[in-house]
Amino acid sequence: MADIIQLLPDHVANQIAAGEVVQRPASVVKELLENAIDAEATTIKLIIKDAGKTLIQVIDNGKGMSTTDARLSFERHATSKIKTADDLFHLNTKGFRGEALASIAAIAHVELKTRQEQVETGTSICIEGSHMVSQEVVVTPIGTSVSVKNLFFNIPARRNFLKSDTVELRHVIDEFHRVALAHPKVHFLLYNNGSETFNLPVSNYRQRIVNIFGSKTNEKLVPVEEETEVIKISGFVGKPEFAKKTRGEQYFFVNNRFIRSAYLNHAILSAFEGLIKTGTHPSYFLNLTVDPQTIDINIHPTKTEIKFDDEHTLYAILRSAVKHSLGQFNISPVLDFERDSNLDTPYNYSKSTVRAPKIEIDRNYNPFQDSESFKRQTSSFNKRPSDSWDSLYVGLDSKNITPQGNSDMKFEGEASDGSLFESNEQVNMTYQLHNKYIISAIKSGMLVIDQYRAHQRVLYEDFLQNMTVKEAVSQQLLFALELHFSSQEIEIIKQLKEDLEHTGFVFSKIANESVEITGVPLNVPESEVSIILEQLINDVQHEVPNSNFSAIDLLAKSMAKSLAIKTGQILKKDEQEYIVNRLFACKEPNISPANRLIFITVGVDELDKKFI
Ligand code: ADP
Ligand code: MG
Repeated sequence: MADIIQLLPDHVANQIAAGEVVQRPASVVKELLENAIDAEATTIKLIIKDAGKTLIQVIDNGKGMSTTDARLSFERHATSKIKTADDLFHLNTKGFRGEALASIAAIAHVELKTRQEQVETGTSICIEGSHMVSQEVVVTPIGTSVSVKNLFFNIPARRNFLKSDTVELRHVIDEFHRVALAHPKVHFLLYNNGSETFNLPVSNYRQRIVNIFGSKTNEKLVPVEEETEVIKISGFVGKPEFAKKTRGEQYFFVNNRFIRSAYLNHAILSAFEGLIKTGTHPSYFLNLTVDPQTIDINIHPTKTEIKFDDEHTLYAILRSAVKHSLGQFNISPVLDFERDSNLDTPYNYSKSTVRAPKIEIDRNYNPFQDSESFKRQTSSFNKRPSDSWDSLYVGLDSKNITPQGNSDMKFEGEASDGSLFESNEQVNMTYQLHNKYIISAIKSGMLVIDQYRAHQRVLYEDFLQNMTVKEAVSQQLLFALELHFSSQEIEIIKQLKEDLEHTGFVFSKIANESVEITGVPLNVPESEVSIILEQLINDVQHEVPNSNFSAIDLLAKSMAKSLAIKTGQILKKDEQEYIVNRLFACKEPNISPANRLIFITVGVDELDKKFI
């Protein structure tokens, strides 16, 4: 097998953040676990004696090293992971400094055993305080085992400086957790003084968290998902009521690397503002994925601090993603908190095929066409069921659904007071661009709002509220509507029946392959009913299982998607204003129910710059 480790040229080595790698047993644990990950191991065993003071051993089944590499690996700045200074900005590995093994070998008794897959025999090397004691051919399993004994044997001052076993073991376990959380697809085991303390099988992220922190954790997790051009966020935050007095379970991973960031931590705290008591700390387990070129990991020797190119944007996205998740959680009762839907799919028909909608509808119909009736219906609430044409103004009825209308609901949306806008006069300055965006003037410049996403947000919050307070108004149909579905689809409708009824649907019959509907939610046109249900079934089939599956939430999202005015629709001035005003009365005006950005702001200063 080819040798892959090279000594870094001086000019590259000099660019690597200098500093001590080994401060305590936990530092060794971190470096060895990371090497095993970089070696693409699928099972990693950590063995600890006396909190790592006597023994730290990591055994992996990764790709191993050639004999030459095994020897070179203990040299300073010897690494297979980077070659040029430029590589520092395209890192896909945990290590890159080529210093860990050298630093560890300098202050302990180290034994390395390693074998590559295609080679019959392996290599064993013993080094004590940087002195090579032995190198021999051995029989050893594929992969690498590094044991580190008698840490700081040659620096008594440092050895004495170590804390009690309890404290050091705590640090060791913390490092183990960090690496294990970042890699749920790797099987990790931890043996402490001869007994198995953790056995973490390959799993999904949620299960990994639960396996580490205990089964009670499961019900405390609220999923966070967001994907934008600059960052992908996935993971969980703890429900506000489980916030702790001590800062314990707070984890950021950037490209699968545990990092500390007071700034991003602040983004989370601000998302929790008003939801947790001061002095308590929310837990979070968040994975951030960014382009490696946009971060610098080489700013700290232990690689736990990162410099982001655009920290401000990440802050805003992170905060809004977490707020959004908490908002959803607060507003919508979740069907079943206890159930880990990753382990247990609530619906067993997810494999059924999706049928295309059968009923023809006039897609060109513009519900805003008649702006006289638009105004009328926004000001009057008492609609007769027969006013079905009027009901096409879906969600434009503000009386029943303004957030302030219900005292049970907390709407802490920061922009809801309209403070973004200079004055009413300026709010009225809207303009529609390409039948897609609404441009609106604000104090600092202008807003560019995606009309489809904005209206989805408005409808989504309306539906959620209606369903949650269970006060939705139903409009009776003159003739019962019979719709046909497959038996699998009927199952879904049965499961969702109760929630659908809370939105205003009235089912007079649910047969094996058809349903009969006699009432639909106010403002839902009869011609759209079939589409809404098809869409909903489709969404359920594709979105389940989701950790905090909430039928109400899905239904609200699905209906909002079906009924929102679409891209391409021409909007009159008052319609544009209506959407802008309603949007900023929303709890979460920034992101659509599908977690997409609803608007961007363009500052006057940005415009000014373009005119230089
Ligand atoms: P770095 O990880 O920064 O490259 P290290 O001193 O930790 O530096 O390791 C030096 C080199 O030794 C690595 O680049 C890698 O090629 C090799 N190595 C270390 N540990 C392992 C392992 N567990 N399996 C395979 N190769 C390893
Ligand atoms: Mg390393």
